[in-house]
Amino acid sequence: MAQKKVIVVGAGGAGLTAAIEAAMAGADVTVISKTSAGLGTCTAYGAGFFTLPVCGVTPKEHFAKTIEVGKGINDPSLVRILSEKSEESLKRLAELGVKIEFTRGSANTRSTAPNELMGGAGFVGQLVEIAKSSNVKFIEWTVVTSLDLTKEKISGVSAVDWRTGRTLSLQADAVIIATGGGGQIYRRSDNPSRMTGDGYSLAKRAGLELIDMEFVQFYPIGWAEPGLPVWLADTGLVDHIRITDETGDEFFIKAIKEWGYINGAEANLFARDRCSVLMAKKEEKGPVFAHLEDVSDEKWEDRGLRYSLTIDHRFFDHFRRPVRVSPIQHYMSGGIKIDTGCRTGISGLYACGEATGGVDGANRIGGNAFSNIVTFGIIAGRHAAGDDVWETKFHHEPECCPPVANSEKGTAPSILRSELQKTAWDLLGPVRSEKSIIHAQHKIHDISEMKLMINSPTEMLLALEMKGLTDTAAAVADAALKRKGSLGTHFREND
Ligand SMILES: Cc1cc2nc3c(=O)[nH]c(=O)nc-3n(C[C@H](O)[C@H](O)[C@H](O)COP(=O)(O)OP(=O)(O)OC[C@H]3O[C@@H](n4cnc5c(N)ncnc54)[C@H](O)[C@@H]3O)c2cc1C
Repeated sequence: MAQKKVIVVGAGGAGLTAAIEAAMAGADVTVISKTSAGLGTCTAYGAGFFTLPVCGVTPKEHFAKTIEVGKGINDPSLVRILSEKSEESLKRLAELGVKIEFTRGSANTRSTAPNELMGGAGFVGQLVEIAKSSNVKFIEWTVVTSLDLTKEKISGVSAVDWRTGRTLSLQADAVIIATGGGGQIYRRSDNPSRMTGDGYSLAKRAGLELIDMEFVQFYPIGWAEPGLPVWLADTGLVDHIRITDETGDEFFIKAIKEWGYINGAEANLFARDRCSVLMAKKEEKGPVFAHLEDVSDEKWEDRGLRYSLTIDHRFFDHFRRPVRVSPIQHYMSGGIKIDTGCRTGISGLYACGEATGGVDGANRIGGNAFSNIVTFGIIAGRHAAGDDVWETKFHHEPECCPPVANSEKGTAPSILRSELQKTAWDLLGPVRSEKSIIHAQHKIHDISEMKLMINSPTEMLLALEMKGLTDTAAAVADAALKRKGSLGTHFREND
């Protein structure tokens, strides 16, 4: 049999794991990414923690908790795979040389992290090395702009090298979408700049179904003080210092205890949805502060405190005072619908990682995303290298992708991006209403119709990303409008 050609779109944890697995199964694999492989990804930016049934936690317990936190709307067949296969998936990577430490119900890759900020950067670095030594080829600095289809199956992808504007058409027997999430639709997000929802857009335009797009996970505490980076602080921060409203009320820790969680660290795993809404509602009345002035010099050395700051503690030398904190977009629970073999509705097209939906339901357990990308990355890679064929079923007729306009009279894409980010934050944030969602739909539509001006490679990249951003924001708004009432991370008022 001829060697199978597999294209993997995305070089984060999901894409790299899939690529390694497909190459090891004998396929000719090419990975395409918008930046240098592994870098600029959520996996690199991740804290590096996996939640999984290991060292005394059973798959049954992990399954039950994942469904409970996801409010029961998760796809149980995908959760079962995660619960039953994540330990063996991580151990497979460990056998290939990836440094992973296992503890009760958890694992981490932080020993290889280059700094406190990028807990997953060492992890992806190791995956890139393993992929290269398995003959995986890389095409970097390149944006996949459409999926190429015949009537029955995937036939390849079209792409643009954004530094030169050169277009590429690449043929493949199988394609794996591992493009991560779309946090950049929001003004406040801890996702890297390239997380623009391209995979959701590619799938949607190819006629595929997206599920659970209304479930955007906001992280409860993010730095919001001028001069500090827009970045998350671990919810466990509340176990070390006071988080208060203007009146000095320690509402956050009180609420967590009332809900039955022992501390912020536990709420971080299981209750990001309620904690973010609590914070957002409190902020409607006035600012919320983290009291860094409380920390004695001795306590400043505490490892737990330093971890929960998430940024190197030296950043805070000039901030030993009350600093503003606010929720921040963190993760997309919804995405491309897949089955347990990571197959989509198009024969030969697979998807894995944050680009997919179904595992998390309405809210994700902290740490489950890292387990997800490895577990489903391996499955996608194995199947793509095999000879799976299935019936192609489009959700709607595939759309032809509009070319990127190149008009001197257009608007700079950075301006439109900011407008979209403000729209999504103000109208589709942690607290939504029917009115805000409809308003968002109109604004997103208007932004998507605007002509773009492209005068530099950076503007070319930003312009190419506008399609992913507007399609993703529209998908979130449409799903949010359809789901009346509140569930998990989707909180609606006045319904
Ligand atoms: C600050 C932070 C901390 C986190 N910590 C944790 C944690 O400790 N534990 C946990 O479980 N989860 C954590 N998460 C979530 C987790 O990091 C992500 O869900 C996960 O890493 C996503 O992996 P991925 O491979 O699906 O996507 P990513 O790692 O984001 O990779 C996406 C890839 O797709 C490429 N791409 C996108 N569009 C295109 C295109 N059109 N053409 C070509 N390439 C494209 C990008 O260039 C990139 O290479 C964290 C997230 C953040 C932001």
